[in-house]
Amino acid sequence: MQRRDFLKGAGASLAASAAVALQGCSKKEAAGAAGELPTIRWRLASSFPKSLDTIYGAAEVLANRLDKITAGKFQIRVYAGGEIVPGLQVMDAVQQGTVECGHSASYYYVGKNMAYAFDTAIPFGLSARQQNAWMYYGGGLELTRELFKTSNIVNFPGGNTGVQMGGWFRKEIKSLADLQGLKMRIPGIGGQIMAKLGAVPQTLAGGDIYPSLERGAIDAAEWVGPYDDEKLGFAKIAQHYYYPGWWEGGPQLSFYVNIDKWNALPEAYRQAFEAAAAEANVNMLAAYDHKNPIALKHLLAAGVQLHAYPQDVMAAAEKAAFELYEAEAAKNEAFRKIYTQWKPYRDAEIQWFKLAEASYDNFVNK
Ligand code: CA
Repeated sequence: MQRRDFLKGAGASLAASAAVALQGCSKKEAAGAAGELPTIRWRLASSFPKSLDTIYGAAEVLANRLDKITAGKFQIRVYAGGEIVPGLQVMDAVQQGTVECGHSASYYYVGKNMAYAFDTAIPFGLSARQQNAWMYYGGGLELTRELFKTSNIVNFPGGNTGVQMGGWFRKEIKSLADLQGLKMRIPGIGGQIMAKLGAVPQTLAGGDIYPSLERGAIDAAEWVGPYDDEKLGFAKIAQHYYYPGWWEGGPQLSFYVNIDKWNALPEAYRQAFEAAAAEANVNMLAAYDHKNPIALKHLLAAGVQLHAYPQDVMAAAEKAAFELYEAEAAKNEAFRKIYTQWKPYRDAEIQWFKLAEASYDNFVNK
């Protein structure tokens, strides 16, 4: 079908239902919309502050592209975390229809079900590229959408930071023994694994990390990577910067749309939303890959010392992670359903990536 015919057809068939179903579409607009697409205004609640401009910015990329594709007819206004919805309640707000859509990290909601973490990252999980492969081709989107349907939400990949850094430490970590009793800001499943290794995980919001580290209430903290970490100023108080962030090998951010609002959208707008979300997904990773090496130079110039995590820490963490997943799968049906599909998929991806990708990277990274 020609694109022009498709758009014309979609507009004509949808005008009637659009008149009653769509938020922000007045009767007057709908009545005059025969053959045209309706005007829609949505609100998007982000989990993120504007200061995390790369993550927060993904929602602006989505909104700007939708505005341009639809000649201003489908507009989404983006609200930063806490403006209209608290940052960690975005999922609830979209589920309840308080807002039409949101942008968040699904592992914030592991308290509802640990299975939501597959939509972001689990420790020793997929890289950013592998996550995209799983979501777009490997069954990940279908599996996570089945889970999100229970929360009245349609989810879309909405950005990725790439593998994160492993955190800032006031003292060097030379082996597993140095983690005993160490207080580290590390939330979520990564924190649970750190606890199994003898550390004491803490959950602190972004703004509370620096003062806690400065006064010695915590000994270490993880955040994101050089670009975001530089802004929080950790280099002044904890100079040992570790890699990799094995709990976030390719954490994906997600857009959430209330399922009833999604079902009421004209097909052309659904297509536009999907395209704009995919653009935001690609764009965030590109932005981080551009900004991180520049920030890393600044950090090194400020005296930061880089260290790889000791091998015994990595090995113990990996073992603890998969023990935790097996135990969760044994008692949590939703987790088990995704994990049993995800695990062999991950293993096959690793078998492929360790050939050309890893050997190329190892050779050029000298
Ligand atoms: Ca992190």
